[in-house]
This record gives sequence, C-alpha cells and structure tokens, in this order.
Amino acid sequence: MTENKADCIFCKIINKEIPSHKVYEDDKVYAFLDISQVTPGHTLLVPKKHVANIFEYDQELAADVFSLLPKLSRAILESNPAIEGINILNNNGSLAYQSVFHSHIHLIPRYTKEDGFGLKWETHYDDYSPDELGQLAKTIAEKVEED
Ligand code: 5GP
Ligand code: ZN
Repeated sequence: MTENKADCIFCKIINKEIPSHKVYEDDKVYAFLDISQVTPGHTLLVPKKHVANIFEYDQELAADVFSLLPKLSRAILESNPAIEGINILNNNGSLAYQSVFHSHIHLIPRYTKEDGFGLKWETHYDDYSPDELGQLAKTIAEKVEED
C-alpha cells in the first residue's frame, strides 16, 4: 500500500494527479524526467512511499529504490551516444540543496564539462591528523552500530 501526502508534489506525480514524463514504474518506485533538465535526460527516481529523505529509509525501502540505479543509469547512457557519464545525486536536507521533501535521486547525464552541471569539491587533507580522523571514524562507526 502506497502512503501519500496530500500536499506533496511528488505524491501527486506518482498518483498521476500532475502529469510527468515517465521513464520507469514498478510497485515501489516511479522514475520521471526532472522538469529542470539540468542536462538532457535528467531523471528523478522516487519511492512511491512518501519518505522525506534518506534519514527515513529502512534497508528494505533502500533496496527497492537504490537497486534500480544501475538499470536506469545504463538505460540513460544508451539513450544518447553523446552521453559520456552520469552523476547520481541525492540531496538530503535544505542545507544540502533539497527543495522537495519527498525523497528522490537525481540521475544527471553528462555530455561535456560545461553541460550545465557542476560540483564544488574542496580538499581538506592537510587539516586533519591521523588521530583526528581515527576519532571521527570511531564516532560514526559507533552510530552505525546503534542504528
Ligand atoms: P532537490 O533540489 O530537492 O534535490 O530537487 C528537486 C527537483 O524536483 C528539482 O530538480 C526540480 O526541478 C524538480 N521538480 C520540482 N517540481 C517538479 C515537477 O512538478 N515536475 C518535475 N518533473 N520535476 C519537478
Ligand atoms: Zn510525497
């Protein structure tokens, strides 16, 4: 049974109350073209169950959704010989650029370095001692065990 939220734009798309260009659908997921088309073929993969973001997934839902990424990625790659690669992006939280709070994964085909998509990726390798990195990893590892 799919859980929908009345005021959610992606629930409305899944329910076909709002039109979309569908790429794939099964019992658990829906995939459709992102309206912004950052690059041609930019696709969103969403769970049919309304979860706000990654923090609300259990492992079963994650398997239902994330396991489709290879299949969808290959389909997008093969849809256009000009596509050289794909960025897979999942924004969680408004600081992390999430604007629609029904979880979704962006598949963004890449054509050239200046095709409309970019990432800032600063390296801070020199800012940490091995001890500090060890402590950081330990703190996260303990939280993994608790979850
Ligand atoms: P976010 O910023 O939350 O990671 O991404 C939300 C995405 O949803 C944006 O890329 C935006 O273009 C897309 N989007 C928002 N509203 C609609 C809509 O009504 N239809 C479609 N197809 N995409 C939408
Ligand atoms: Zn929703």
